[in-house]
Amino acid sequence: LRQKQKLLDEKRREALNNIIDIKGSIRVFCRVRPFLPRNRRKNINPISTGLDKMVVKLSGGAKEFEFDKLFQQESSQEDIFAEVEPILTSALDGHNVCVLAYGQTGTGKTYTMDGVNDKPGIVPRALEKLFSHASRDKSSSLTFSMSMLEVYMGNLRDLLAPKPICRAYETSARCSNLSIQTDLKGLVEVEGLMEVQIPDLGKAKWWYNKGRRSRSTSWTNVNETSSRSHCLTRISIVRKWDSDAKTESSKLWMVDLGGSERLLKTGAIGQTLDEGRAINLSLSALGDVIAALRRKRGHVPYRNSKLTQILKDSLGDGSKVLMLAHVSPCEEDVAETVCSLSFATRARAVESIREIPED
Ligand code: ADP
Repeated sequence: LRQKQKLLDEKRREALNNIIDIKGSIRVFCRVRPFLPRNRRKNINPISTGLDKMVVKLSGGAKEFEFDKLFQQESSQEDIFAEVEPILTSALDGHNVCVLAYGQTGTGKTYTMDGVNDKPGIVPRALEKLFSHASRDKSSSLTFSMSMLEVYMGNLRDLLAPKPICRAYETSARCSNLSIQTDLKGLVEVEGLMEVQIPDLGKAKWWYNKGRRSRSTSWTNVNETSSRSHCLTRISIVRKWDSDAKTESSKLWMVDLGGSERLLKTGAIGQTLDEGRAINLSLSALGDVIAALRRKRGHVPYRNSKLTQILKDSLGDGSKVLMLAHVSPCEEDVAETVCSLSFATRARAVESIREIPED
């Protein structure tokens, strides 16, 4: 009996260690978008929020979701960045890092990642942080380079490359010559993807804005179509230590994911339906990868989508992942809100959804 108890204790300890490990490497934050002038019925809000818990009222009761951090409607870009900053420090310390903005179209993913003129988002702030850190570093020299690409219906499009001559490429991304390669050490490279050196903050912002413009101008209906693609920004960091010849490299991915809404339920047809299917497939592939990593055992299905293939070496062992789930405060979006929150909480290591029956 004692032997059995000992085995059980060991198993429990092992499970706990796994949880602690993964909990530290995958964090999930949630941000609730404020009501917009175009939203009707602003007074009805199905969401109530606490410090790290959110309760969504539904017709048959309520659901409670728990996060590592919850940002309410009035949270500012500074509030968000203050919590994201530590994970960027990990990238400077040599870890691969992945920041993912997830949620239904219109919930503020691009607002959080890019920001607007006077309220910059995570990417421009991250660039500032990297350069200010580099200027203060006395023991090593840091160099940065940038790549940006878009994944649309399983095709990859380089957002920093010069404008292509082929017009079809502009609109459908079909002529992409990018391919994903993994080397023997498991490091991933997108072959053919342009990588630009960014020697200072000014150049970094110039290239980033070019990439953003390239994303939005390639589609005829910007809001409709750019939300049906994933936009990935990669900062490659190389640190050379002054004391010896050692170098250390890491990657920082900042990803504005395509809208997570269930298009089949919204009656989409034709091209929109195909785009929706592609997005949903890659998002569920991402969910499967995170779930497999969380279990810490068995096969991790990276190969099921281009998105997970590209991010492979920045999602797994030794890397840090931050998922920022975005939701709308509106009653008409409540079904999508619950889907997004369920997806995001599944990525956490601890059980964080609770059904609350109606009184
Ligand atoms: P998504 O990228 O998820 O489709 P957007 O970032 O384009 O959504 O946001 C949709 C609209 O809501 C935009 O007009 C954006 O400026 C506004 N918005 C989103 N989040 C906020 C916020 N936290 N504060 C103010 N406006 C916001």
